[in-house]
Amino acid sequence: MIFAPLPRHAPMGIYIHIPFCSHICPYCDFTTYAGKESLIPRYVDGLARDLARQAQSVQDREIVSVFIGGGTPSLLDGDQMRAVLDACRDNFTLAPGCEISVETNPNSLTQPLLTAYRDAGINRLSIGAQTMDRRGLRRLGRHHESDDVLVALENAHAAGFERVSVDAIFGWPGQSLDIWKQDLETLLGTPHPPNHLSLYSLIVEPGTPFADAQARGILHMPDDDATADMYELAIDTLRDAGWTHYEIANWSWHPGDYSRHNALYWQHGDYLGAGAGAHGHLDGVRTMSHLLPERWCEAVENDGDTVSNRESIDVRNGLTETFLMGLRLLQDGISADAFERRHGVTIEELSGPNIDAMVATGLVERTDSGIRLAQRGAMLANDVIARITEFDMAAARSP
Ligand code: SF4
Repeated sequence: MIFAPLPRHAPMGIYIHIPFCSHICPYCDFTTYAGKESLIPRYVDGLARDLARQAQSVQDREIVSVFIGGGTPSLLDGDQMRAVLDACRDNFTLAPGCEISVETNPNSLTQPLLTAYRDAGINRLSIGAQTMDRRGLRRLGRHHESDDVLVALENAHAAGFERVSVDAIFGWPGQSLDIWKQDLETLLGTPHPPNHLSLYSLIVEPGTPFADAQARGILHMPDDDATADMYELAIDTLRDAGWTHYEIANWSWHPGDYSRHNALYWQHGDYLGAGAGAHGHLDGVRTMSHLLPERWCEAVENDGDTVSNRESIDVRNGLTETFLMGLRLLQDGISADAFERRHGVTIEELSGPNIDAMVATGLVERTDSGIRLAQRGAMLANDVIARITEFDMAAARSP
């Protein structure tokens, strides 16, 4: 099973964070800063140094995915992107066919830049379209136009990218079901459409300008029913068009063409985090690096600790996370054998009665290999996962 939870010393990934944006969107709570782009050359040097240092602790591990996220990684030029990837190639063992992805903003994706990225080794693009509706782009505070997305898709094709994902958001203020339908139809109807879609419902995160505006009563979000209708529309539209809904928020055109990097998260697998604000997860310890890029650069340059927070994952949290992440996988779900190998306890011993209750309501299915969410369960995933992870730790034994 592709998505079985990983054993220790299994192949792993590298997450590289680029914490720079040309402006900050009002709904965004990622670690990113506007107006600090002049730091980029110093930051790229720091990444090369940090990657070389971190590689020493995982020399026995094969890297199956490198993900460059942000922020806006497409603020890096081709030479800077190559320098980051050379540091990966020089210091780690990259598996044949290693997925190397970069998150991008549509308005910077010229063909020369994409060709340079392709030559540098990037083999998967993720384009942050968010919506194809002009009014929606302004509501979301985006600085690109929907035409930029279409041009970016053309340029990606011309540059030779075979794996292209588009991110879109539904449930933004003022969005109707018709506008969302139009978004999906526009994306699917382009001459060179993406072959992967990540569709997220907009969550108003605390501390963002959206949260502030909502608290002052000047931002009106669609209600839960309207958002659920949009999700259901996406499920139906993409199913009818032949797409595979393989994870709660992710669809692939070719079955099995999932995001291998995200699969590491969903498998509760290991990945190093490099860069300011980057998260890592290695051998049962979660790490987070210094948030401020200047602070992170100083730590790297002085051979100091780039990590500001380390958290050991205890047995309960480890079990909960395997359920939480594995149940997001709508096709594969959780492998009972792999779960037991990893945790030393079976799914049934741990949460059998909860699973029975969810199966009885039609929200969870038992499969030949384990359990997974049923289609209806995907709509109520948080509730289902909360119920299944209400288990008694007395059932857990040491692996
Ligand atoms: S471009 Fe992306 S990372 Fe940057 S502020 Fe907007 S949503 Fe956040």
